[in-house]
Amino acid sequence: MSGSLFGRPRAEVEAALPDREPVACPLCGREPRPFAVDFQGLHLARCTACGLEFQHPRPVFEQIASAVYTPEYHPEGHEIVDGGRERTFARQLERIERYVHRRPAALLDVGCGAGAFLGYARSRGWTVGGTDINVTQDARRHDARLWEGQLPEIRFAGARFHAVRLNQVLEHTPDPLRELRQARRLVAGDGVLLIGVPNLAGLSVRLKSWQSRLGLKRRRWKHYGALHHLWFFTPATLAALVEAAGFRVVHWETPAEDQPGRFGWAKALVRGPLQAARLGGILDLYARPAEPTRD
Ligand SMILES: [Zn+2]
Repeated sequence: MSGSLFGRPRAEVEAALPDREPVACPLCGREPRPFAVDFQGLHLARCTACGLEFQHPRPVFEQIASAVYTPEYHPEGHEIVDGGRERTFARQLERIERYVHRRPAALLDVGCGAGAFLGYARSRGWTVGGTDINVTQDARRHDARLWEGQLPEIRFAGARFHAVRLNQVLEHTPDPLRELRQARRLVAGDGVLLIGVPNLAGLSVRLKSWQSRLGLKRRRWKHYGALHHLWFFTPATLAALVEAAGFRVVHWETPAEDQPGRFGWAKALVRGPLQAARLGGILDLYARPAEPTRD
């Protein structure tokens, strides 16, 4: 059994995901307007009121979860912190530590996967906890409190965290607003939330979207990563969701992906200007409770 269906031919994808469900905008409650069908036959749509983009209709989430988020979903070696990931972890934790000075402090990593970030944060003095739809053996190797399931369904029994991190997670969830409301219940009044997602407003995405519209791409709209990605966020639409859940945005940035390989040197040259123009491929947004609560 393969861990990922992404990139398989349409027939295979449809065999594993036979059913579709309609999706309304979580912010506006409206039915969105379809604007494209990707190379796999998946439908991309945009809310005409707020601009949020998402799959509609989309494969039924439970079918995606059982077909895609298997224990094999995390590729081998994903528990290892290599150079690129260490730079990402360091960037994110240093930013979090600008807002959270107390020690000990508790951090929850939602979608903790193979647990690499749990280990990294623990080595920096944090008390760590993690959740995942399937908790892996690798995650269990860290001294972390772990919960299995989808974030809104988990009972935390009053547990609060000084930092909650959802890195490359929110775009996979069935309802991002529900996810963020649960995050609001979990972040301590003086704590911070980090959301990392692909940046739909990044330069590379914009170029590939134009190529897809003009029929210049063999696999049209592949860069959306539809199938396991259900939502596609810009800085504006992500901020609107985070604010609707009871947070205020304190910082956002768009790091450019740290990609080795072909044209790696050219990508390294444009990384700085891309980040300065806020056109990088990743969107990291930091928010704090809008109304500090007493803990
Ligand atoms: Zn909307």
